[in-house]
Amino acid sequence: MKAKKKIIRNNEKTVQKYRFYIQSAFALLCVWIGIQFYFFTRFLESNGTSPFYNRPPGVDGFLPISSMMSFYYFVSTGRIIHSHPAGLFIFAAIVLLSLVFGKAFCSWLCPIGFLSELIGDFGEKIFKGKIRIPEWLDYPLRSLKYLMLGFLFYAVFVLMDMTAVKAFLESPYNQVADLKMYYFFADISRSALIILASLFIISVVIRNFWCRYLCPYGALLGIISFLSPNKIKRNPVSCIDCGLCAKACPAKIKVDKVFTVVSDECNSCLSCVDVCPVADTLDLKSIYTKKKISKKTVAIGVVSIFMLVTGIGLVTGNWQNNITKKEYLTHYKLMDSYGHPTGTAAVEKFKEDSNKDHSLNQSPPVKNNNRGMKY
Ligand code: SF4
Ligand code: SF4
Repeated sequence: MKAKKKIIRNNEKTVQKYRFYIQSAFALLCVWIGIQFYFFTRFLESNGTSPFYNRPPGVDGFLPISSMMSFYYFVSTGRIIHSHPAGLFIFAAIVLLSLVFGKAFCSWLCPIGFLSELIGDFGEKIFKGKIRIPEWLDYPLRSLKYLMLGFLFYAVFVLMDMTAVKAFLESPYNQVADLKMYYFFADISRSALIILASLFIISVVIRNFWCRYLCPYGALLGIISFLSPNKIKRNPVSCIDCGLCAKACPAKIKVDKVFTVVSDECNSCLSCVDVCPVADTLDLKSIYTKKKISKKTVAIGVVSIFMLVTGIGLVTGNWQNNITKKEYLTHYKLMDSYGHPTGTAAVEKFKEDSNKDHSLNQSPPVKNNNRGMKY
């Protein structure tokens, strides 16, 4: 007969309330950035006649491709491109965060992740429970975000060299990428609206649809998270196999069946740790020291890492970009003619053009040298 396990109750307080507060604060910060950016665009729309509002540098955080390329350029050359310098520091903060706490950015800070969670909660209330996609469909769908990331990696790391990366980062297209993104939503087309509405409806039915299947940023952080030494660990000796952890996991990980959660989908939300009824059975632990990392440490750590790295950008004077009001007014008028290379042939042509410009100049390419990049 199987001996009954002695249960020591888990009396630790849940961290989910604090996670919600942090997510809300970060989402409000993003809304504030959006409002400031709106006033900045009013200045451009009035051709410089209405009062000037500083462009909020935090908007760079919404340009993940530019930020990733900026980070790549910085790591390769030690130099910072000043088109969207805040993006470099925001990206670096997220990478460091992922190296320490796995994909914690997605569940603690990302406003899209937060929105996805709220929509998912709403869906679960309507449908009275979770709707799960069968595994045979879940796996191929999860690969979609890796395909998108793969193409991006191929275009940047294989097809482009450092001259082309620099030329892209300093191009007029990249300089107004934030404005283009703003007008994409402000003057949203019918087809884009249909796509967004469809994503919303699907996310009500299928929890975290965007994050789980389509977000290439999440795919990148999932890969980086494998390098994190801190993982959710289950103690099989004290575990009573109640299955509550697996039931609570929004990433559908079978936490109750593994000793260590090693998954690109684990976003360190700690929901599983919170629901475990037995003390010292399920915790975030360092795989090297085997020491438990308290929930409080995760909450404070996530916010501190983000503030510390972005704070370095701020105090070193690498936060605001170097685009003048006059340049913005000119870009605003020409913006519709700016494009970016799409497809491998266009990226290769862009690389060739950048290298030609570079050798003609016999010096690093000058600012705005790559014309409007019409491809
Ligand atoms: S395994 Fe735990 S920490 Fe990871 S996503 Fe699932 S519930 Fe969150
Ligand atoms: S919640 Fe998970 S780890 Fe905790 S006792 Fe139940 S099955 Fe075991």
